[in-house]
Amino acid sequence: MPRRAVYPGSFDPLTNGHLDLIERSLRLFDELIVAVVSNPEKRGSLFTTAERVEMIREATEGRKGLQIMSFDGLLVDFVARVGARAIIRGLRAVSDFEYEFQMALMNRHLREEIETVFLMPHEAYSYLSSRLVKEVASLGASVTGLVPPGVEKRLAEKFARR
Ligand code: ADP
Repeated sequence: MPRRAVYPGSFDPLTNGHLDLIERSLRLFDELIVAVVSNPEKRGSLFTTAERVEMIREATEGRKGLQIMSFDGLLVDFVARVGARAIIRGLRAVSDFEYEFQMALMNRHLREEIETVFLMPHEAYSYLSSRLVKEVASLGASVTGLVPPGVEKRLAEKFARR
């Protein structure tokens, strides 16, 4: 049986921190499913679910063992449905801990057999978040080196249109 994990998130948009975690996960698991939370526009995402999925596909093309999907509803149900046993989450700083800890324990309460695995990114990405990337890009500053080139391009297009 291949070891399969799910890496869920908003990925609005994908950053190099996310990519770092994808690579680290693939060293531990045979198969990784990056699962984009499909939230209707109401939750204020900059990119649609389809756009977010597409940007991840573009940036990871040809990467073996990797699948990109979107999901809605309960994460642990999705994880069970795709036959995975682990959820990957990132810990950048202490500030991530409280929320992630609560969510991991709630998910364990809901489905005990699914384990959450926390990975730390390279230090270079410890202060990187999709939120900050959007803020910087919206003010017209460069996000080169923080996101893959395809994402940079789409951010520029998005904000040029506003
Ligand atoms: P969510 O809305 O689920 O937090 P995100 O797309 O912001 O979605 O993040 C998905 C996961 O990736 C989270 O576990 C988050 O902690 C992690 N993550 C986000 N940015 C980074 C980064 N720069 N380095 C490592 N992990 C990160």
